Amino acid sequence: MNLRLSDEQRMIQKTIRKFVEKELIPLENEVLRNEREGKPSLSPEKRKDLQLKAKEAGFWGINTPEEYGGADLGQMMMAIVYMEISKTFVPFSFGGYADNILYYANEEQKRNYLIPTINGEKKSCFAMTEPGAGSDTQNIRMTAVKDGNEWVLNGEKTFITGGNEADFVMVMAVTDKEKHRQTGRDGVTCFIADRSMGWTSEYIHTMGEWGPASLFFDDVRVPEENILGEIDGGYNLGLEWIGFARWIVGAQAVGAAERLLQMAIDYSKERETFGKPIADRQAIQWQIADSAVEIEAARWLVLNAAFTLDQGEDNRHVASIAKLYGSNMGNRVVDRVLQIHGGMGYTRELPIERWYREARLWRIYDGTDEIQKLIISRNLLKGHVKVGQFV
Ligand SMILES: Cc1cc2nc3c(=O)[nH]c(=O)nc-3n(C[C@H](O)[C@H](O)[C@H](O)COP(=O)(O)OP(=O)(O)OC[C@H]3O[C@@H](n4cnc5c(N)ncnc54)[C@H](O)[C@@H]3O)c2cc1C
Repeated sequence: MNLRLSDEQRMIQKTIRKFVEKELIPLENEVLRNEREGKPSLSPEKRKDLQLKAKEAGFWGINTPEEYGGADLGQMMMAIVYMEISKTFVPFSFGGYADNILYYANEEQKRNYLIPTINGEKKSCFAMTEPGAGSDTQNIRMTAVKDGNEWVLNGEKTFITGGNEADFVMVMAVTDKEKHRQTGRDGVTCFIADRSMGWTSEYIHTMGEWGPASLFFDDVRVPEENILGEIDGGYNLGLEWIGFARWIVGAQAVGAAERLLQMAIDYSKERETFGKPIADRQAIQWQIADSAVEIEAARWLVLNAAFTLDQGEDNRHVASIAKLYGSNMGNRVVDRVLQIHGGMGYTRELPIERWYREARLWRIYDGTDEIQKLIISRNLLKGHVKVGQFV
């Protein structure tokens, strides 16, 4: 067992760190200004420009198989890369990416959706959640009824990331009510529906800058050839999509918490009260120490989730642990860092309040805290996982 990064991994980490410092962090003031004026954080042109700069630095399709022109860096590298890019709140995503479940597409679907998504010509989103079905994904009500060579979709999806910008959606709908009623999982199909087929979207205002959308389907006709995977067998695709990013939320929390902790350390050495820097006070030192310990713990949980996946093993249990602990750690750290900054931490002069708002989301999406606890305890109580199995 080697608990250190390889030379290659360290080199990639260094390169991405330089990219973040040189290209992303200098944009922070612009992002804050735009958001506070109610504009998009960054213009689409700027986002594209950043992707191209990342490409020049060798980061394109970091998780995309080599046969599709990607770098396929593996999950450990994904974890490390996400920890680095999360040291800034500047929204950034690498080019050359497509949703994991799009690789289940048939050849024609790959030509029409997968390849254009990887090439950045089309934008996708994924829609499972409905107003009456969030954690309880088996309770979805959107229907798809066959009519000739088409399926007619009716219903509403909500909280869909990228739903305002997407050209197409991978949307889950009930195709066999009886099967669905019996198991909750069967009788659900995943459709690829172009926006041009008639669905509409509406921006949802949140406490963060995320801006998901509600999607409305009113007799939207989707051709038979746009079924992704098997008819009535789409539910597992949904779980696979949701599971993909779960532990990455933990990686994002580690990166953000590291940057925030450094801000708190720097500020505590400068800020004096009662004749001494606040860094000299045990109350502050303990908050710094608690944060450092928790960041380290989250880092190893995330790396374990990534490593497990790289070994070709089922990582769902450790992914839930990494997501639950990492996202809660991130919330505790940002709260402490805000406290250490006193009134300044609460102002819009500093970006801490922005992180504070964003961190709250980590405990909700990709499965809430409670759902992660449900999964972890169920695995143990049912004996799917034994205590200490992963050491
Ligand atoms: C910004 C954002 C982006 C999102 N992006 C997407 C997306 O791209 N695609 C998509 O399909 N969805 C997306 N979601 C939806 C997200 O996955 C759901 O919000 C999440 O799963 C929780 O569902 P809910 O909001 O309906 O809460 P509910 O399921 O109604 O839960 C309410 C509360 O009850 C708790 N609870 C629920 N069931 C149990 C239980 N059995 N035991 C104990 N406690 C329980 C929950 O933990 C929560 O605290 C997004 C959400 C947000 C906020």
